[in-house]
Amino acid sequence: MNDCIFCKIANGEIPAATIYEDDEFRVILDLGPASKGHALILPKEHAANIYELPDELAAKAMILAKKMATKMTEKLGCDGFNIVQNNGEVAGQTVFHFHMHLIPRYADDGVKLGWVPGTLTDEVKEEVLEKLHE
Ligand code: AMP
Ligand code: ZN
Repeated sequence: MNDCIFCKIANGEIPAATIYEDDEFRVILDLGPASKGHALILPKEHAANIYELPDELAAKAMILAKKMATKMTEKLGCDGFNIVQNNGEVAGQTVFHFHMHLIPRYADDGVKLGWVPGTLTDEVKEEVLEKLHE
């Protein structure tokens, strides 16, 4: 993927504020942070989204997210933590190289993530259960 910015950042071709690196991942500070310390976990191997991500990297990314959340909470003194991962334009993805957002949360930080809760109707519940229940 020669024109993927996160491939270039993850592999060190473009500099970024790196807070963690190993053979398979780089964790950088987001240039448009939602809060102090907002960071991104980037796999070095290109996958556009979660559907393309190999299982082994998906598992390692989650373990790394836990490790980073623990360290960031301890060192930054945040009061809570969101881990966000967007897939597809309609879901808010703007860079099409898989990444996980690590968003430290502070009391009264004004960060807005979320949705307006709807109502689970019987009709929709039955439809979805029929499609997804194994
Ligand atoms: P998403 O909307 O989930 O695709 O998130 C993309 C994120 O990447 C946004 O939070 C951007 O602020 C961030 N971003 C885009 N380009 C860069 C960059 N060159 N370095 C660091 N963060 C970036
Ligand atoms: Zn890429």
